[in-house]
Amino acid sequence: MKLAQCWDDGVLDDIRLIEILRKYGAKASFNLNMSRHHAERHTHWKFRDTKEVWSLCKAELKDVYDGFLVANHTLYHPHLTQMPIEDAKRDIREGREQLEQHFGYAVKGFAYPFGDYNEAVADAVREAGHVYGRTTVSVAEIFPVENPQAFHANCHFLDPHFWEKFDHVKAGNGTFYFWGHSYENVTEEDWRNFDDKIARLSREGEWVNLPDLFA
Ligand SMILES: [Zn+2]
Repeated sequence: MKLAQCWDDGVLDDIRLIEILRKYGAKASFNLNMSRHHAERHTHWKFRDTKEVWSLCKAELKDVYDGFLVANHTLYHPHLTQMPIEDAKRDIREGREQLEQHFGYAVKGFAYPFGDYNEAVADAVREAGHVYGRTTVSVAEIFPVENPQAFHANCHFLDPHFWEKFDHVKAGNGTFYFWGHSYENVTEEDWRNFDDKIARLSREGEWVNLPDLFA
């Protein structure tokens, strides 16, 4: 079976997450907003009111994500359906342009901030050159995909039914795809569980890059 994963928001914990992915040879995409990466790392909110979430600084992005794919998460992380469509289009388009300029390769993936999308926004994502747009909807089977710009994952990585959902996909030899934020690993136990999860997945399937599912 095939396996795919992606991680949102370009945060400091991606460094620790990537160490684990590298250990097991796992592939992943990271959904970034280029406006959030400045000369220094910075934090502006706390996860569950306790854990500071840090954005990576711009100068470290290429090193941190070396060997992985980056995907567009817009430039400013807005609610795309709650703004004029022309503004949404600009945010989508410029987010992709700035990523391509920085990383030097074609950016094909997209993830909706807050999972917020509608038909007009999905059309804008396609028009800007993305081969898929990831929602935050969970589905039992990710293929067939009715609309690649409304591409649903099997689940979030902390879904309590993660392995049941995995087993369902495995039984049909399908593709299992999950997403999350690295900062949602808070305790050392969370990180051990995450390591165990990637280890087991890597024994069971073959990691693929998301855009290749749409080739
Ligand atoms: Zn996000």
